[in-house]
Amino acid sequence: ATPNSGDVRATPGSSRPHVVLLPSAGMGHLVPFTRLAAALCSGHGCDVSLVAAVPTVSSAEARHLAAHFAAFPAVRRLELDLASLDVSEFAGADPFYVRYEAIRRSASLLAPLLAGGASAAASALVADIALASVVIPVAKDLRLPCYVFFTASATMFSFLAYLPTYLDANAGGGHAIGDVDVPGVCRVPTSSVPQALHDPDDIFTRQFIANARSLANADGLVVNAFDALEPEAVAALRQGTVAAGLPPVLAVGPLSPAPIPAKDSGSYLPWLDAQPARSVVYVSFGSRKALPRDQLSELAAGLEASGHRFLWVVKGAVVDRDDAGELTDLLGEAFMQRIHGRGLVTMAWVRQEEVLNHPSVGLFISHCGWNSVTEAAASGVPVVAWPRFADQRVNAGVVARAGIGVWVDTWSWEGEDDGVVSAEDIAGKVRSAMADEGVRKAAASVREAAARAVAAGGSSYRSLAELVRRCRDGH
Ligand code: UDP
Ligand code: UDP
Repeated sequence: ATPNSGDVRATPGSSRPHVVLLPSAGMGHLVPFTRLAAALCSGHGCDVSLVAAVPTVSSAEARHLAAHFAAFPAVRRLELDLASLDVSEFAGADPFYVRYEAIRRSASLLAPLLAGGASAAASALVADIALASVVIPVAKDLRLPCYVFFTASATMFSFLAYLPTYLDANAGGGHAIGDVDVPGVCRVPTSSVPQALHDPDDIFTRQFIANARSLANADGLVVNAFDALEPEAVAALRQGTVAAGLPPVLAVGPLSPAPIPAKDSGSYLPWLDAQPARSVVYVSFGSRKALPRDQLSELAAGLEASGHRFLWVVKGAVVDRDDAGELTDLLGEAFMQRIHGRGLVTMAWVRQEEVLNHPSVGLFISHCGWNSVTEAAASGVPVVAWPRFADQRVNAGVVARAGIGVWVDTWSWEGEDDGVVSAEDIAGKVRSAMADEGVRKAAASVREAAARAVAAGGSSYRSLAELVRRCRDGH
């Protein structure tokens, strides 16, 4: 369909809707967006454009984008040149949150981008939650339907959607966030609330609350979740129990890893191939954060003392471009020699979904970034949850309630002073989790439910089809 002059909107009813996807920053957001892009274009017959704000914060994002566009040439790449941002205003702030802010302040550039670069008129915009409050008005001006994609758990989404009600009811107490009872879902204790949210002036807090208050203005809400893993949260969001006036909620998870051909498979695959079935503990704290040095040493000693084989992905810096350290500097030459053969430690990027689906992997020590949780659920690997930051304790609660893993909720959390979890505690938890038949069975059953949800006719498949239908019909 050809737009009227100056109109970026496709004529409703076009047989192939053109969906424009707008992620924010960080692999935790980019990965589910590229998975959504792949599902919409390969499985559901959409034209898809993906907006990339360049240069990316991390090199992992740059590599992932390049691999994605190479694997899916049909997905159009639109580059958003950000308006310049005076970063001195955000000294010391998390670089990914600062990037959210930079994109937010560039929202007005979307109109010319869509008019010029998109070449085909758009049917709908799907924007990252971190950008919601500024992008929805821009889409409204363009008369484009706007969907908000929440890249984390439905449980965290219900917390976000309920927070304005909570804050308004507790206005007498200022901004203080105590235990939050999310109606129909669960209690989020104050100790599980993302650290930043305790500070009303934090840049993340300001974005988070503005985004929460904007949800009712979206045309629909998309979440990478499925019933079997978060039955209460998915139902409560759909039924309006969490907050009144929300648009339709579409649970489309777990979004499947896109088949991106790998250039180098790394040394870990042959090593995994050589290990017995379900014998390896995979350890990763995600793409965003580094453990403090003293905790790294205890973790190393704990993995060694557990007696199990392990594959450990170590991060030494927040942004990978800064990660110049050597493994031996971080962990010591002696440790590397002692674990040789039994443990593989790497600072390189691994293809996590491939690792989790490898038959020799039997346990995942995870920070519980939501993508990691969905990947563990989809592959049936039990989790030892060790959340450190942001929404990760909320996600760890999901893991524990679903029975697909264990969570010691007293283990350290960034910003708490009670410090370091000992090698002995870590070794004990690894041994008991590796021997836990109940958790293994629950993980296997959630894996099957995940596969059913995304298969043709499953709940998540139908939700995605519903999103496509709505985009095509112009609402
Ligand atoms: N990931 C990966 N290899 C790594 C580290 C991370 O493939 O070495 C992927 C992981 O599979 C997930 C994403 O990067 O898809 C990280 O997102 P998540 O939400 O788990 O955590 P975050 O990094 O945002 O804290
Ligand atoms: N988030 C949100 N509103 C925002 C920004 C982020 O709800 O304005 C969510 C995000 O999807 C995640 C949590 O808040 O559930 C923490 O955000 P962060 O960007 O730290 O997620 P991460 O990159 O660590 O996965």
